[in-house]
Amino acid sequence: TPGLYVVATPIGNLRDITLRALDVLAAADLVLAEDTRVTGKLLAAYGLSARLQRYDEHAAAQARPKVLAALAEGKRVALVSDAGTPLISDPGFRLVREAVAQGANVVPIPGASAAITALSVAGLPTDRFLFAGFPPPKSAARKAFFAELAPIRASLVFYEGASRLGASLADMAAVFGPREAVVARELTKLYETLTRGPLDQLAANPAMQAPKGELVVLVAPGAEVAATAADADAALTEALTRVGP
Ligand code: SAM
Repeated sequence: TPGLYVVATPIGNLRDITLRALDVLAAADLVLAEDTRVTGKLLAAYGLSARLQRYDEHAAAQARPKVLAALAEGKRVALVSDAGTPLISDPGFRLVREAVAQGANVVPIPGASAAITALSVAGLPTDRFLFAGFPPPKSAARKAFFAELAPIRASLVFYEGASRLGASLADMAAVFGPREAVVARELTKLYETLTRGPLDQLAANPAMQAPKGELVVLVAPGAEVAATAADADAALTEALTRVGP
């Protein structure tokens, strides 16, 4: 069937791709890739070849009208990123929005995403979580960004570059206090490591300054926030009791 297929690919271990993703990539008229070499290697590992076209932040604006025209002509277009699920801290939002607006068939082909993979083993509450993507690179903006998230009663999930981890953890410790946190490194890869502890301890850990590889940082909801929310719940219950049914 024609349409835009948004296809998740592995976040490290090449085996983490679904059979359906391989079917869709094999049948696509056009595969839009953030980096055609990365996707070319993935396809080659499965004996597939496809018409690959670069679709990254720079190429997107120019490529988008042609892709939308191809969709209107009834072509099967697959969108992939270098790793994980497209649009999750990766290109594709405008393409999906415009494809939806022109009435194209937009189909998810689900699979790995580093944020969900990390949450599944972090051991932090998962009933409510907020994916916050990459924090700003500069400390002042980063602290303001964390301060905005601090009152939210949910586990917080961040992507962070390895070279910035130490500085970012120090700012988290300053803003969130000694909340429990987890650094999930190189998920699904050879050096997969999860490091757990209060933020201040993680920030002081020499191994957390500039480790190698890719990282997800997860922060537990704050206890004081939970207490405030519990108070708010109690107040609401009391108020409702007073008003009556
Ligand atoms: N679209 C991807 C997804 O669904 O996870 C995320 C793309 S984003 C540009 C790349 C960031 O994701 C990395 O900087 C890192 O924070 C995180 N990431 C990707 N692969 C990872 C892995 N194997 N282990 C830990 N973090 C990973």
